[in-house]
Amino acid sequence: MSAAPSRQPPAKSAFERRLEAALAERQGLNRYRRRRTLQSPQSAALQVDGRSVLAFCSNDYLALADHPRIVAAFRTAAARYGVGSGASHLICGHSAEHHQLEEELADFTGRERALLVSTGYMANLGAINALTDADSAVFMDRLNHASLWDGAFVSRAQVHKFPHNNLLALEAQLAACQSRNKLIAVDGVYSMDGDMAPLPQLAGLARTHDAALMVDDAHGFGWLGDSGAGVCEHYGLGQAEVPVLMGTLGKSLGCFGAFLAGSEALIEALIQLCRPYVYSTALPPAVAAATREALAVIRDEPERRDRLRALVRRFRAAAQERSIPLTDSETPIQPVVTGDEARTLALAGDLLERGFWVGAIRPPTVPEGGSRLRISLRADHGFAQVDSLLDALKAGLERN
Ligand SMILES: *Cc1c(COP(=O)(O)O)cnc(C)c1O
Repeated sequence: MSAAPSRQPPAKSAFERRLEAALAERQGLNRYRRRRTLQSPQSAALQVDGRSVLAFCSNDYLALADHPRIVAAFRTAAARYGVGSGASHLICGHSAEHHQLEEELADFTGRERALLVSTGYMANLGAINALTDADSAVFMDRLNHASLWDGAFVSRAQVHKFPHNNLLALEAQLAACQSRNKLIAVDGVYSMDGDMAPLPQLAGLARTHDAALMVDDAHGFGWLGDSGAGVCEHYGLGQAEVPVLMGTLGKSLGCFGAFLAGSEALIEALIQLCRPYVYSTALPPAVAAATREALAVIRDEPERRDRLRALVRRFRAAAQERSIPLTDSETPIQPVVTGDEARTLALAGDLLERGFWVGAIRPPTVPEGGSRLRISLRADHGFAQVDSLLDALKAGLERN
C-alpha cells in the first residue's frame, strides 16, 4: 500500500523558524517591506493593485519609460536581434547595438570610452573591486548608495567612512592614509536626500592627495547639466577631475542597465577585471537600441529637462507656502523627513488612501531616525498635481 500524500504542511525546520523570527523582528520595527503590483506602464498616473493613483515615487524623471519613440526602437531591435543576448560580452554577447551605445555614451559624457554593465548595482560592486586591492584605501561618504558600500565591503581595501559631504573629515582621513592607491567614491546626487556632492572640492582633494575620484551619477545622468549629461556637466568636470564615472540607464533614461566611463586604460582594465561584467550575460541588444533612442530623445526634447526643473521650483515654493519642512535638495528628489518608522508608514498610508503614492523610506536604506517620505518628481506631473499632493501631505502631517 502506498502512502497517501500528506496534506499537513511539513513540520517547520530550525532554518524556517529562524527566518520567521527575523521577519517578525523586522515587522515589529515597522521595517517590513511589501511590493505593490502595477497594471500600467510607468507614468505620473499608475494603475496599482487595481486602482488609479498619482505616483510621486519613480526614478523615471524625464517620463521616458513609455515614450513612443523609445518603445518603437525597442520593438524594431527585438524584431531584428531577438530577445536574449546569448552570452556575456566577452564570449559572443557583444552586439553592434551595445557597441554603438558605448560610443554614444562616451561622446555624451565627454569621456574617452564607456562600458555597458547590466545594472548599476553590478557596475559599482565590480568597479570598486577591480580598481582596488589589499594595499588600497577607499573613502566613502556615509550616505553612499548600498551598491557602493557592498563594493567597498567585498573588496579587500581598507574602508574609510566620512560624514556626509564633510570635506574636512575626508581631508584628515586622506592626509593620514599611507596607501598608494586611494579611491574616493561618492554619489553625485544622493538617492534618498536629493542633495549633491561638492564635486569640485572633492576633485581638488583628490588631486592634492593623489587619489582617484569615482562618482555614481544614477540620479543626475540624463537631466542635470545643460545637455543632460549629468552631475559632471553641471559642475564642468571632465575625465581628468572625475576619472571614474558610473551612470544608470534605468532612471532618467527610462530603460535599463548602466555604464562606467573614463579613459581607455580604465575601460580596458574593467573589461579584464570587473567580475560582474565578465561573468554576466550582456543586456538584450534591444535594450541597448532603446537606450540609444532615449539619448536621442534627450537631445531632441530639452523641454523635458526644463519642465523637471520648473516642477522642482514649484514643489519647493508650494511646500514653503504650506510650511511643509524641506531639505536643501534642488533636484527632483524631495524628501520630507518624518523621523520614525511608524509615523512614516502612517503618513504614506494616509496619502495612498487619498490617491497619492510616495515612498516610505526607512532604515537600513536611511540611517536610524532618518525615516522619510521620498517624493520624486517627473516631467509629466502637472503643477496642479503637485499642489494637490502638498495639500494632502499638509493635512496628513496635521493628523499624524
Ligand atoms: C539605483 C541606483 C543604483 C543601482 O542602479 P541599478 O541600475 O538600478 O542597479 C546605484 N546607485 C545609485 C545611487 C542608485 O540610486
